[in-house]
Amino acid sequence: EAAINRIAAGEVVERPASAVKELVENSIDAGATRIEIVVADGGKTLIRVTDDGWGIAADELPLALSRHATSKIDGSDLLDIHSFGFRGEALPSLGAVGRLTITSRRAGSDAAEIRVSGGKIEPVKPAALSAGTVVELRDLFFATPARLKFLRTDRAEMQAITDVIKRLAMAEPYVSFALFDASNGNRREIFSANAEQGEMFDALNGRLATILGREFADNALPIDAERDGFHLTGYAALPTYSRGSAVAQFLFVNGRPVRDKLLIGALRGAYMDFLSRDRHPAAALFIDCDPNLVDVNVHPAKSEVRFREPGIVRGLIVSGLRHALANAGH
Ligand code: ADP
Ligand code: MG
Repeated sequence: EAAINRIAAGEVVERPASAVKELVENSIDAGATRIEIVVADGGKTLIRVTDDGWGIAADELPLALSRHATSKIDGSDLLDIHSFGFRGEALPSLGAVGRLTITSRRAGSDAAEIRVSGGKIEPVKPAALSAGTVVELRDLFFATPARLKFLRTDRAEMQAITDVIKRLAMAEPYVSFALFDASNGNRREIFSANAEQGEMFDALNGRLATILGREFADNALPIDAERDGFHLTGYAALPTYSRGSAVAQFLFVNGRPVRDKLLIGALRGAYMDFLSRDRHPAAALFIDCDPNLVDVNVHPAKSEVRFREPGIVRGLIVSGLRHALANAGH
């Protein structure tokens, strides 16, 4: 089992940023409204995620570490997954390749912690925590030294972590996020976003301002379009706000961040008449549809999706954005 977990870890956890993504998605799934992430040395020595979610009961802590055990699926339809995650892989994988400690408290029960290091699980112990969950991952890949060699500089890994947090923060405007770098005993804030309020377009606009700047948010065009069961919402920027890279492209399918060729291509297609090839349109776009119309489990790392009807999705994005751009005088 430990060996299987180590092999699975290679797919789920490529680098510190993928560990951060899995842990923060778990916090989101647990209904957290505040998520704090502390990392040191680009996440190589420490990743700690603290949330105020509903927690894990002491007697369920061992289950959280066992492979394919998940509280998030009823077993019937694998395609019908509303929440995040390659089911039940993340925590066992992280525990196989690093030193993982989960401390948690479920309302009405006592706080407890469990440790697993290089796949060796220790018994559950009582702990002190007022609410929520703290997951601490130290020495990622210490158990698989070959993996360590593939990691980039602390700076590059930190950049990837920041990008992951910004994408999740864009997806969850009602949740507050704070990311700190605790390298060398200091504690430096890298990114933070206060929880937004109000209806979805206002909340998302506030989050856009936090992540991409107030001027950007004030000038972004609201998008709201629908076609054959696919709903497109969000904001798209005027061509003048395009970037030299894809850093300002935030794409989500059923609430989860994706980096999908079809969607990126459709976005480019919508701006084709206004932008040269080396410019990238900026946007935060959400596609929502029945889970049966999209396969989100193409790969455990999950950035790619497969739509049943790619042509409809492409058409929806191109026409939805062109319409908004035309209304804005383009
Ligand atoms: P998955 O997210 O696919 O269920 P994970 O390995 O990521 O698998 O997590 C296993 C289980 O541990 C989850 O199903 C959930 O019940 C529990 N869990 C993990 N992180 C948290 C958290 N931050 N708060 C509450 N429960 C959590
Ligand atoms: Mg998970």
